[in-house]
Amino acid sequence: MMQHPCFTIEDWNIRETDLHLDILAQTESIFALANGHLGLRGNLDEGEPFGLPGTYLNSFYEQRPLPYAEIGYGDPESGQTVINVTNGKILRLLIDDEPLDVRYGRVQRHERVLDIRNGVLRRNVCWTSPVGRAVNVSSMRLVSFSQRAIAAISYEVEPLDAPVRVTVQSELVANETLPTMGKDPRGGAVLPSSLECEEHMAQGTSGLMLHHTRVSGLRIGAAMDHHIEGPPETVVESQSTPDVARIFITAPLKPGQRLRIVKFLAYGWSGQRSRPAIHDQVIAALSVARLTGWEGLLAEQRTYLDTFWGHADVEIEGDPQIQQAVRFALFHVLQAGCRGEQRPIPAKGLTGPGYDGHTFWDTETFVLPVVTLTFPHAAADALRWRASILDQARERARLLGRRGVAFPWRTIHGEESSGYWPASTAAFHINADIAYAVTQYIEATEDRAFEQEVGLKLLVETARLWRSLGCQNAEGQFRINGVTGPDEYSALVDNNVYTNLMAQHNLSAAAETAKRYPEAARALGVDAAEIDSWQQAAEKMFIPYDQRLGVTPQDEAFTEHEVWDFAAITPEQYPLFRNFPYYELYRKQVIKQADLILAMHLRGDAFTPEQKARNFAYYEPLTVRDSSLSAATQAVIAAEVGQLQLAYDYLGEAAFMDLYDLEHNVRDGIHIASLAGAWTALIMGFGGVRIQGGMLSFAPRLPEQIKRLAFQMVFRSRCLRIEVTAQEASYRLLSGSPLTVRYYDNDISLTRSSAVTRPIPPIQAGPRPTQPPGRAPVARSTS
Ligand code: BGC
Repeated sequence: MMQHPCFTIEDWNIRETDLHLDILAQTESIFALANGHLGLRGNLDEGEPFGLPGTYLNSFYEQRPLPYAEIGYGDPESGQTVINVTNGKILRLLIDDEPLDVRYGRVQRHERVLDIRNGVLRRNVCWTSPVGRAVNVSSMRLVSFSQRAIAAISYEVEPLDAPVRVTVQSELVANETLPTMGKDPRGGAVLPSSLECEEHMAQGTSGLMLHHTRVSGLRIGAAMDHHIEGPPETVVESQSTPDVARIFITAPLKPGQRLRIVKFLAYGWSGQRSRPAIHDQVIAALSVARLTGWEGLLAEQRTYLDTFWGHADVEIEGDPQIQQAVRFALFHVLQAGCRGEQRPIPAKGLTGPGYDGHTFWDTETFVLPVVTLTFPHAAADALRWRASILDQARERARLLGRRGVAFPWRTIHGEESSGYWPASTAAFHINADIAYAVTQYIEATEDRAFEQEVGLKLLVETARLWRSLGCQNAEGQFRINGVTGPDEYSALVDNNVYTNLMAQHNLSAAAETAKRYPEAARALGVDAAEIDSWQQAAEKMFIPYDQRLGVTPQDEAFTEHEVWDFAAITPEQYPLFRNFPYYELYRKQVIKQADLILAMHLRGDAFTPEQKARNFAYYEPLTVRDSSLSAATQAVIAAEVGQLQLAYDYLGEAAFMDLYDLEHNVRDGIHIASLAGAWTALIMGFGGVRIQGGMLSFAPRLPEQIKRLAFQMVFRSRCLRIEVTAQEASYRLLSGSPLTVRYYDNDISLTRSSAVTRPIPPIQAGPRPTQPPGRAPVARSTS
C-alpha cells in the first residue's frame, strides 16, 4: 500500500505536521488558494525558501514566439503563457535583525493546514533563531470567494522566552526571479521580467503597484493595506521602487505581548481599462475588504462554503483516505472555477504554471460534469467563455479551410497555442466535447436563456465544423478522417470512434436545438437544408466494428496495428512519450489514456452492456495511463461492467494523483481534471449517475470496502441526496418540486416527503481484465 507522504488523514483538513523542504514545490501546489480569478500558491509567508513562487490572475498572460525548425502552414507563430504576477503574500520577518528562515536556526514546530471547511490555509511555526531567540508565528490566509479581487492574511508573532525586536516587512513584489522549469513538456515557459512598471507607491500602511505586460499589453494593479495591533511603540514606515512596495512594521515585544497584522490584498487587471481605472478599481476593492474586516471575510468564506458543501458534499464510510481526498478534490475544483466569471478553467487551475496555464478539453470533458451537478453557475460561465472566443475559433477554421469553428486545443486568450499539430488542432474532438458540455449543462439546469443565447451558437458553429470536416463516401457513410482522438499515442487516424460518436451527438443536438429556436437559428444563418445536412451526417456517421475480434476498434485501423511490446519496457521508461519517438507509438497498439473507454462513458447509449464488457477487456491490457486523464474514466466503466475492485483501485489513482504526486509533476500545479475525476469515479462510477435522454439516471454499485456512499447534487434547481450501501440505494429530494429519475430500468418519482429506497440488483462480471505489465493501478486496501 502507498504510504501517505506527509499529510494526516482527516475529514476536512489537509494537515502537514512537519515542513518537508524536499517537496516544498509540491505542497505549495496542494496548499494553493484560489477563487477562479485569483490564485496564490501555498508559498511560505516569509517568501523564502520557496519551490516556485506563484500568484496568478485568470487569463493574465504574456505572449511569446513559438519556435519552429520548419514552420508549416497554419502553425501559430506565438503562444500564450500565464505569468507570475505581483506577489502580495510576502511578510518577511526579522527577529532582532535575524530573518526567520526555516533553513536556519531551529524549527521546533511547523504545521500547515488546508482547512477545506472554512476555506483558509493556516500555519503555525515555532522557531528559534541562530542566536537563541524563540518565537511563535501563526498565520492564516484566504482568497475570498465572496470578494473575488481580495486575498487576506492574518499574521501574528509572539516572543516565547525573551524580549525581541520584531520587524515585519510586508511587500508587493513584481518580476520575481523564477526557477527554471526543466524539459518536461507538461511544464511551462519561464518568461523573465514580463512586467513593466507604470506606477508604484507606498504610504502609511498601504502600497500599490501598476504594471503592464510588454507584448500582450495587459495591465495589472495590486494594492495592499494593513491593520496592525501591537504595543504602543510600534512604528510603521514605507517605501517603494518600480518592482517592490514595502511596509516596515517594527515593534519591541516582551513575552506575553504580540504583534498582529492583517494584510488585505486587492488585484485587478484589464486588457482595455486605463491606468487610473485600474488604480481606482483595486483601491475600491481594498476599501471594501477593509470595511468587511478579517472576521467578516472569514464569515463570508464560511457562508459560501456552507452553501457549496450543502449541495456538493460526498460522504464515504469505510475509507477515510478517499473521504479526505474527494473533499480535497471538490475544494480545488471549486477554487478553480467558482469565480472565473467567463474566463477559462485552466488544466492546473490557478495553482501553478504547468502547461503554461492553458485550458484544454480537460475543462469540458472532465471538470464541467462535476461543476454542472454541484455549482452549475460556474459551468455556464466557463461555456460563456468558450462563446466569447468564437471569433478566434472561426478564424482558425477559416485558416484551415473549414466552416464553423475550430476551437484551440490549448489556449488562454482564444488563439491556438500549440505548435504540434498531431496532438493539438488535429484533436478536433474538443469541439464536440464543448458541445457535449453545453447539452449536459442544459439538461441538468433547463437554463433556457443560456440555451438560446449561448448554447445554440456553440452547437451550430461546432456542427458546421463536423459537416465540413467529414465526408460521405460512395456507400453513404459519413467519415471523419485524419484526426486525433483522446489517445495521444495514436494520431491523424481515420474514424476515431470517440470523435465520430461525439460529433454525431454534436450534429444531432445542433439540429434539435436549431429547430427549437427557429428565429435565433435563422439569425445565425441556419436554414432547413443545413439542419437536414447535420441530421444526415449524424445518421450516416460511420462507427467501425472489428468483426474478427468482436470489439469496437479505437479507430478504423487500430486493431490492425502491431501490439506494443510491453514486456520490453522498464518502469523508468514511463511515461513513454518522454522515452520513445512518437512515430513508434503511433504505429502500435498502445494507448496513453482512455479513448474508446471514454466514448463508452459519454456515449453509453451507443453500446450494449456486452459490448462494453468486451471492449473494456480488450483495451485494458493496452492502456498505460501516461496521462492523469485516464484512471477516472477507467474507474467509471470498470464499475459499470461490474469490475468493482478494479474501479476502486482506479478511484485511488485519480483521487491521489496530487496528494501522492503520482506523476511527479505536482510542483507545476495540481491536476484539476484528475481531481474532478475522483468525484466522477465515485459518483458516476459507484453512484452510476448519468444524464441521458433528458433524464437523470442511477445504476449504483459499491466495492466491498466502501460501506456507504452518500452524496448531494443539484439537478434542475433541486437538491438531491443519495445514499448507497451494498444492498440498497435511497433517493431523497432535499429541495425543489417533484422529479422523476431513472433507477436501472425503472422510473422512480421523488418528492420531498420521503426517501425512495430500492434494492441493488446483482451483476455477473467476467474475469478481471489485466493491464500492461507494471501498469496495473495500485491495489487499494483500507486496512
Ligand atoms: C493529455 C491531454 C490533456 C493534457 C492536459 C495531456 O497529457 O494527453 O489529453 O488535455 O495533458 O491535461
